[in-house]
Amino acid sequence: MATSVLKMDFMTKRSIMKSRIRTENYKGRWFVLTALELTYHDGNADEQPGKQKGRIFLKNIKVVEKVEPEEFGGKPNVFQVLYTNEAGEAFNLYIMALSPESQEEWIFKLRQTSQKCGAIFYKQYHPGIYSYKLGKWLCCERIQHKSEGCCNVTSISEKLKPSAQDKKKNDIRESPIQGRPDNMPVPKPPEKPKKSDKVKVLAVFSYDSNLDGDLSLEKGEEYEILEKNEEHWWKAKNSKGEIGFIPVNYVKIKEGEEDLEEYDWYYPNTSRVKSEEILNKEKKEGCFLVRESSTSGMYTLSIYATERDVGIVKHYHIKRKGNGDYYLTEKHAHRTVPMLIHYHKHNCAGLIVRLRSSPAAGRNDISPAIPGLGHDRYEIDRSELQMLQELGAGVFGTVKLALYRNTQKVAVKMMKEGTMSEDDFIDEAKTMKELQHNNLVRLFGVSTKERPLYIITEYMSQGSLLTYLKRHKRRLLDKSTKLIDMCHQVSQGMAYLESKSFIHRDLAARNCLVGENDVCKVGDFGLARFVLDDEYTSSHGTKFPIRWAPPEVLSYTRFSSKSDVWSYGVLMWEVFSGGSMPYGQMRNQDIVTEVCQQNKRLERPQKCPEPVYDLMQECWNRKPEERPDFSSIVKKVKNILHATADYL
Ligand code: AMP
Repeated sequence: MATSVLKMDFMTKRSIMKSRIRTENYKGRWFVLTALELTYHDGNADEQPGKQKGRIFLKNIKVVEKVEPEEFGGKPNVFQVLYTNEAGEAFNLYIMALSPESQEEWIFKLRQTSQKCGAIFYKQYHPGIYSYKLGKWLCCERIQHKSEGCCNVTSISEKLKPSAQDKKKNDIRESPIQGRPDNMPVPKPPEKPKKSDKVKVLAVFSYDSNLDGDLSLEKGEEYEILEKNEEHWWKAKNSKGEIGFIPVNYVKIKEGEEDLEEYDWYYPNTSRVKSEEILNKEKKEGCFLVRESSTSGMYTLSIYATERDVGIVKHYHIKRKGNGDYYLTEKHAHRTVPMLIHYHKHNCAGLIVRLRSSPAAGRNDISPAIPGLGHDRYEIDRSELQMLQELGAGVFGTVKLALYRNTQKVAVKMMKEGTMSEDDFIDEAKTMKELQHNNLVRLFGVSTKERPLYIITEYMSQGSLLTYLKRHKRRLLDKSTKLIDMCHQVSQGMAYLESKSFIHRDLAARNCLVGENDVCKVGDFGLARFVLDDEYTSSHGTKFPIRWAPPEVLSYTRFSSKSDVWSYGVLMWEVFSGGSMPYGQMRNQDIVTEVCQQNKRLERPQKCPEPVYDLMQECWNRKPEERPDFSSIVKKVKNILHATADYL
């Protein structure tokens, strides 16, 4: 995961839990602290950190305290980190810092960052170590290794004073090991706080608002939702009591321990093809990720392994028992997915290889496009746009890359004067701005106070789908799963438009755009209605997209979601022919005659699988009502994808 390093030092480590046999187990390790985890790596002090040897999620940290030298065989600058794993087992990590200052700094930083991740600290701890030789805690002489702490934790320094909210949390939940008799087993770590009526969300991305009325988000921080009156912006309160609007797609509702988003092995919205791409890039034995399965509510585990020196990616359904437990092999079921993953990190138990690490690269950690340039921001002040290079030119004019408020990349369509009925468009753009889906290019706003009129949209780094197909033709035509995946993405965007009764009217590869991680989005939806140029609007015009139009549009200009379906069939044809021109060199008039009168259709592209061509033909049914709708196209494409790629 691409998280920046907050602190990094080469220090000496002793792990007591792993050293039952070898009581003295000290090693030099690189310790790396990020906003989410503390990892340690091998390597020498004078080099960079090497291979990762261990990892602690900060949210699982329970104690960060100094260990006095007399409690640790005279060794100075030692501090301890007590943490639990997903199964609730506790582990101690003892680290010897290089100096007293470094020891202080690490304790401070670890506590501060873990608190930010929602760690709940115990109130008591053992300031000494447990001696396996003597069979007791050196600090309190208690014999039970799992006995309660004998000392109150030090009060958190001024800077770390818990917020009012945290205080409240701590008041409700006492340390689970406070005041228990010696012989009682140590209970599981504290339960998560009881859900109050208030909705709490966790920021999955940071959002720097800059705008009045909006609230900035810090990744990993918790926010309380005050109002959900709008679909894409909610009114929220942060821990300091500040109130404002936040983009909904930047946060996740906290769902107790099943909040998989908190795990770096969880890759939601990742197709089988994409998961293979990510794991093949990593090429690490046991590297794995968990993704949403094609069956809603289910998950799939994808693992990289080598078989006879050849790297392969294996996919396993995570199944559920009648009682809801998750399992890969029936004998080893666990209450939650993280517990299951934890189990298989230590036990192969039927998998091709034991789970080891999650991928470092390819994680979908890029902030999604925010739903606009701010809450309720529709008219954009063009002085806040810094125009950069030209991206291309289309029917309406030039498209430029721009920087909004010096931070966010956007695409600006500078409308050629006289090409569109501007007033109608400005009225309609408010509605279009509300159309938001991961596979639709987001309309951020307009700038209408001056001319030319600007349309400001999400920036898509790889340009139009048509250019993309042509550019990568040789590579792509042998990868039908990748191509089907792109068609699937477009169908999802179109199904959303269909569900909102919105007709695109000009769906074609040239009007779709490709962004980071090859995400594919439908653009320019509905714009065709505002074009003034007869050559574009009249079905007899030279600029009319005749090659993408069904008979009822060519004959009576009758647009509908079903005319979009026809165009979608042509788009699929473009995808599988590497961005070729439909009907090649044929003249427009001949196309109209052949399609409308002779019922002729585009031929199957050479590398196009039969089921894909069958679906194209369904989209080209002469009768609009007999064409599938987009919601069923989404399912059909998904089925083809599964069959083609043995997709889980
Ligand atoms: P259009 O006017 O929408 O046909 O756009 C003309 C060209 O500008 C496209 O073919 C793309 O290469 C480029 N373009 C348009 N919109 C965007 C965008 N949002 N992000 C990146 N490039 C774009």
